[in-house]
Amino acid sequence: MSAEAASPAAADTPVVRLIDVVRTHGDGPQAVHALKGVSLEMRAGELVAVMGPSGSGKSTLLNIAGGLDRPTAGSVLVEGHPLETLSAKRLAALRRRRAGYVFQDLNLIPSLTVAENVALPRELDGAGMRSARKDALAVLGEVGLAGMADRFPDEISGGQRQRAAIARALVGKRRLLLADEPTGALDTPMGDEILRLLRGQADAGAAVLLVTHEPRYAAWADRVIFLRDGQIVDGPGDGLVSAR
Ligand code: ADP
Ligand code: MG
Repeated sequence: MSAEAASPAAADTPVVRLIDVVRTHGDGPQAVHALKGVSLEMRAGELVAVMGPSGSGKSTLLNIAGGLDRPTAGSVLVEGHPLETLSAKRLAALRRRRAGYVFQDLNLIPSLTVAENVALPRELDGAGMRSARKDALAVLGEVGLAGMADRFPDEISGGQRQRAAIARALVGKRRLLLADEPTGALDTPMGDEILRLLRGQADAGAAVLLVTHEPRYAAWADRVIFLRDGQIVDGPGDGLVSAR
C-alpha cells in the first residue's frame, strides 16, 4: 500500500462514490439509457462484484467508476473530489496513477516483452526504467509469470497473456482496480487464481470492482450488486438464478 493509501483521511473517504449516476447514449427516441440513477460507494479494502444480464449497464458502470466515461447526470467523487471539477489533464493523471484496468480484450503490445508491457504504466507514472522493471518483475512473480518476463506476448499461452494483462493492471499498487469479466477466457483453476489475486489486492487496501457472470467468482466479494436495465436491484432475478 502506498503512503497515501495508508493515511487515515484516505481510509475514511470512499475511493469512489457514484451518486444518482445516469448515462444516456444518444438522444430523442433513439436514446439508450445505459444507467438510470445508480449510487454506489467503494471503500479501500473492498471487493465489490457486479452481476446482471448482458446490456444491463455493467461495463458502463465500471467505465464511469474508473473515469473512462463521464455520466450524463449525477456525480462521481474520486477520493471525495467531484470528477466534473477535474481538468482533462488531472483526470488522465488520475486514471493512470490511481486506477488499474483489466479488460477481456487484453491489449498487450506485441513488440514489447511481457516485462516491458507490465513496466509501461510505471514508466508513464514517471518511474525510471530500472525501478519500473523491478516493479514489473515483482508483480510478474505474484501472478506466476516470473519465468516469462523476457518473452513476447505471442510466445506465451492465452492464459499467461491474461495473467500478464492482470499484472499490468496491478503494478504500482493501484488504489482502484476495475476488472470487466477478467476470468472470461480462463478455465476454472486459472479463474480462481485471478480471483485470489484480486482478493489479495483488496485485502492489501485497494478497492476492486469486478464484473462477472459467475456466482463462483462473485462469492469472493464483500458485496454483490445486481444490475438490471441500468438500475441496481435487490437480487439476481430469474435470468441469473437459472444461470447458476
Ligand atoms: P453490459 O456490460 O452489462 O453488457 P453495457 O454497459 O455494455 O452493458 O451497455 C448497457 C447498454 O448501453 C446496452 O444497451 C448497450 O447497448 C448500450 N451502450 C453501451 N455503450 C454504448 C455506446 N457507446 N453507444 C450506444 N449505446 C451503448
Ligand atoms: Mg459488459
